[in-house]
Amino acid sequence: MRFDIITVLPGLLESPFAHSILQRAQQKGLAEIHVHNLRDYAANKHKSVDDYPYGGGSGMVMQIAPFAACIEQLQSERTYDEVIYMSPDGQTLNQSTANALALKGNLLILCGHYKGIDQRIREIFVTKEISIGDYVVSGGELPAAILVDAVIRLIPGVLSDETSALSDSFQGELLDAPVYTRPANWRGHQVPDVLLSGNEAAIAHWRYEQALARTQERRPDLLDE
Ligand code: SAH
Repeated sequence: MRFDIITVLPGLLESPFAHSILQRAQQKGLAEIHVHNLRDYAANKHKSVDDYPYGGGSGMVMQIAPFAACIEQLQSERTYDEVIYMSPDGQTLNQSTANALALKGNLLILCGHYKGIDQRIREIFVTKEISIGDYVVSGGELPAAILVDAVIRLIPGVLSDETSALSDSFQGELLDAPVYTRPANWRGHQVPDVLLSGNEAAIAHWRYEQALARTQERRPDLLDE
């Protein structure tokens, strides 16, 4: 998969993709992430990409021309399955959206700042708007990093234990079961005996029951679905 991300703060996106699973996915050639500095597409000599809102009010608005120049350049090089704008009023990101996007080839992601981006960018270029939840952060970069992480870990071969993404919360209707590791006894707090029993069927049954109880307690809405 290939991800192109357009931002005014490319530095904000360096670290999230330079470690652990996301770094390995790129090293293995399973994912490519290209970050584009929107200011490189600004025509004015100050490289500014925002301006005052029409109609007045607080906050700056990101202009259409630099976004258009960058998007059109990228679209002349390849076809994108989706052009995604990270936005608090978009569709809330969930596992099924991540699963669907993991089947795509090329994704182009736009990060907003300040008051957001000129509405015409959304109408003309954007095919999908995604929110990371009902709260507002300062820019689209951290939301974009979350989206890209959620998608990349689903690409076959990215996680070393191939089944592990499938047993995560939200892949099925159940939340994940509790997990433990050594020591078996820490200050008298014991790991459940069944996990030490070596009885695979009993362990699977225990995990299922725990996952079910946890889901009933924390997210009964998942069972209703
Ligand atoms: N005025 C906008 C918020 C702008 S916040 C509004 O009220 O809807 C600045 C940028 O941060 C947005 O353009 C968007 O790219 C990003 N952003 C903020 N919160 C987000 C969220 N919950 N999900 C995805 N992107 C978000």
